[in-house]
Amino acid sequence: MSRVHILATGGTIAGTAPSPVDPGYRSGGLGVSALIDGVHGLRSVATLTGEQFSQVGSQDMNDSLWLTLAARVNALFTANEADGIVITHGTDTAEETGFFLHLVVKSQRPVVLTGSMRPATSLSPDGPLNLFNAVSVAADPQARGRGAIVAINDDLHSARDVTKSSTTDVQTFVSPGAGLLGTASYGRIRYFRHPTHPHTGDSEFSVESEVALPRVDILYAHANMPADLVRASASLGAQGIVIAGVGNGNVPTEVAQALADVASSGVIVVRSSRVSSGDVGRNIELDDDGLGLVASDQLNPQKSRVLLQLCLARGLQRGHIQDAFYRY
Ligand code: ASP
Repeated sequence: MSRVHILATGGTIAGTAPSPVDPGYRSGGLGVSALIDGVHGLRSVATLTGEQFSQVGSQDMNDSLWLTLAARVNALFTANEADGIVITHGTDTAEETGFFLHLVVKSQRPVVLTGSMRPATSLSPDGPLNLFNAVSVAADPQARGRGAIVAINDDLHSARDVTKSSTTDVQTFVSPGAGLLGTASYGRIRYFRHPTHPHTGDSEFSVESEVALPRVDILYAHANMPADLVRASASLGAQGIVIAGVGNGNVPTEVAQALADVASSGVIVVRSSRVSSGDVGRNIELDDDGLGLVASDQLNPQKSRVLLQLCLARGLQRGHIQDAFYRY
């Protein structure tokens, strides 16, 4: 049997509610042993080990936890202590943690994130089957070389493409444009494709050398957006700003000017979009060349932030950062 190590970080999958029908709950309360013991037949899928990495709602995931998590995953694989790793995680920011690991884990072995929308004590929890499927993927040699995978609600997504689309639906994860990596049905796995963008060993990013990630802020654009938010972000120390623009990454004219001003003083500005699908291209309605901006291409604001942090930590300049947004 494959050896699968579970790193439990918290989230709703480990959440507990006062009653099975109470919509209010506390994230992350259950420990990793309770999670494993709560899934019928899990120990017949793989030789399991578990570790309590953290016990947070994923709204409290941060750069420091990401760095430690990535280092732990790399160390487990380097020491050949696991054939695959499952990370139980809150659904709110799983797409960001997943994309970070997709870029900085240096192994072909599977890293599979899973979570749930309903707490473990719910009348009808979704966590146990999600964990069963995630362990099945992590134990599967066919999962190797596909980067970080999010396994949830019978679907397998590339961590690069996946995003949360509903605040409450069990079927919340989608991969707009890219589509599913595969499916999982009671541990029976089917793959449809490999990720097409470089990841893990083919990514130029690694975290061993980085001690801290630079501050990158996300600003949300809207009609009447005030331009001074941009200057505030820069003066608070942001080395990068991702703008969740309207439509194709657009912003009001005064905001565009403020972005150009901070860009000329060295802040890297990436234009992404608050729209949930589609690309943000260069020089469409805004003159990126003249304003000194980077277009996010296919990455949403929260994933753009992850990539920009890694680019800045690596010391890449604006032109190379634009290349990275096309490449990754
Ligand atoms: N707030 C929770 C979290 O991300 C939601 C969930 O896990 O579904 O940790």
